[in-house]
Amino acid sequence: MLLLTVLFAALAAWTLWRWWRINPDDNPLDARFPLVPLAVYGTLAALAYLPTLRADLAAARAGRAISVLEGRKLAYRCGSTLGVFFDRDTDMAVGYVRWTEDSIEQTAKLRHEVCEGLQRFLAAPNAVDANWRDKVIAIHVLAHEARHMLGERSEARAECQAIQRNALLARQLGASEDAARELALAYWRDIYPHAPPGYFSSDCRGGGALDEKLPSSPWNLAR
Ligand SMILES: [Zn+2]
Repeated sequence: MLLLTVLFAALAAWTLWRWWRINPDDNPLDARFPLVPLAVYGTLAALAYLPTLRADLAAARAGRAISVLEGRKLAYRCGSTLGVFFDRDTDMAVGYVRWTEDSIEQTAKLRHEVCEGLQRFLAAPNAVDANWRDKVIAIHVLAHEARHMLGERSEARAECQAIQRNALLARQLGASEDAARELALAYWRDIYPHAPPGYFSSDCRGGGALDEKLPSSPWNLAR
């Protein structure tokens, strides 16, 4: 919606500029300050900006939560709907952390769908509702990208590390203990088995090579 904000801001600027250039001697009616159109354009620009603002606030909150959990300043940034078509870096991935040989970005880029899932989670962190799957995926993507930012370059390892921390992140973002456990189990049981090649590892299980033996590992949460 940022595009609409820009459009309405441009209309407001054009209205103001037109009024500025008017010679009051030509037509006194035209010389009146264009208060109404400016108020309308300004309101529309602000309204169009609201979704972007909400997504940014959610990303900032997630950044604070993950920084507390991981003990390091990490951040997230939400992409826009339109951005998906122009952002060549992310290759349409749901989340993305750029790295080179010797540096890794400490801000992960999230696709807008992930930010929407995060906002739904923040609005109702304990509700297993119609948005449940989106919420589960959003929390997991946040946890997964954090592992990359901390230096893990293997997708399978980052995936398994995130799986073992999803409950912690959900808790940190306001979920009850029960809801956080359900979320971690939902990802591990329902979504992880369908992870694409390179992400799934048969070693990601209780007693497997990737088991970090955390209390929050889903196999330790299962009842
Ligand atoms: Zn990854």
